[in-house]
Amino acid sequence: MKWIYPDYYPQFKCIAERCRHNCCIGWEIDIDYSTMGNYQKMKGPMGDRVRRNIEGSALDGHFILDENERCPLLNENGLCDLILEKGEKALCQICRDHPRFRCRLKDREEIGLGLCCEEACRLILDQKEPMRLLLEDNGRSKAELSNGEKEYLSRRNRLLAIATDRSQSVYNRMDRILEEEEEELPDLPFKQWADILLQLERLDENWTTLLKRRRNGPFRASIDDITQENLLVYFLYRHYLKNSKEGAYFCGAAAFSVLSTQIIALLCEKQSDVYDVARMYSAEIEYSDENLDALMGMLNEYNGGTME
Ligand code: SF4
Repeated sequence: MKWIYPDYYPQFKCIAERCRHNCCIGWEIDIDYSTMGNYQKMKGPMGDRVRRNIEGSALDGHFILDENERCPLLNENGLCDLILEKGEKALCQICRDHPRFRCRLKDREEIGLGLCCEEACRLILDQKEPMRLLLEDNGRSKAELSNGEKEYLSRRNRLLAIATDRSQSVYNRMDRILEEEEEELPDLPFKQWADILLQLERLDENWTTLLKRRRNGPFRASIDDITQENLLVYFLYRHYLKNSKEGAYFCGAAAFSVLSTQIIALLCEKQSDVYDVARMYSAEIEYSDENLDALMGMLNEYNGGTME
């Protein structure tokens, strides 16, 4: 088995009680089947407490958030009582993994960190050198990539090379990426893009306020090229392969990566805004299947593709 990950990935460490947008607040936390079984058997007061704070069946169980939308196991210091008492192995799959994402191919798993976590966001956006993918191989698997996977990997790697080609401005790189994939973005003024985002499901009032405030401009990117490169690379790495299925690639991932980078850049009034704006964009769009499907579907249709 091979594992692929961005070079910054090993530096990630959850900042727990110092996190201003703790992922244990405001998100529904689903409990996977196997962990649900462990919680049913957990002994002592912690077992009772966990079971009191769960609802749903073994197949769709989740924690009951309190009136402030906090996970019932999150203490007043912003730490998880379950980890403190039983260790990280007692966590359900989502809590163990977050903010990591994974994409599995025949011979490998690609891993990354999601921008919706403020610490991952800081790490990703603060990279000064072009992102490199690292590979670890335990040599135990004989599985090989299919021809389709090989093709999409090589196309994705070509797009990443363009995205990190610093001899060109970041705008030229975005154009080249779209040309390379023979994709285009609908030619809409930013105001209209903001209105499209305002029509999608929204979680955070700050996101709504930001979209309404920025929809009338000024329409210029206030963040530097390296930050935009980091965003572009992040979206391509995360979404391109996920969108490729054997023999049935549907287009839109390159356009989505370019569009997401441009929207985030235009929503920032100054460089330091990018951490909050990118985190919110990720939480509102990337982490909502419904919103992601709506935007990807629109770009897919515009580029003449067919979504399954
Ligand atoms: S959002 Fe990130 S840094 Fe904050 S608590 Fe969750 S994993 Fe930790």
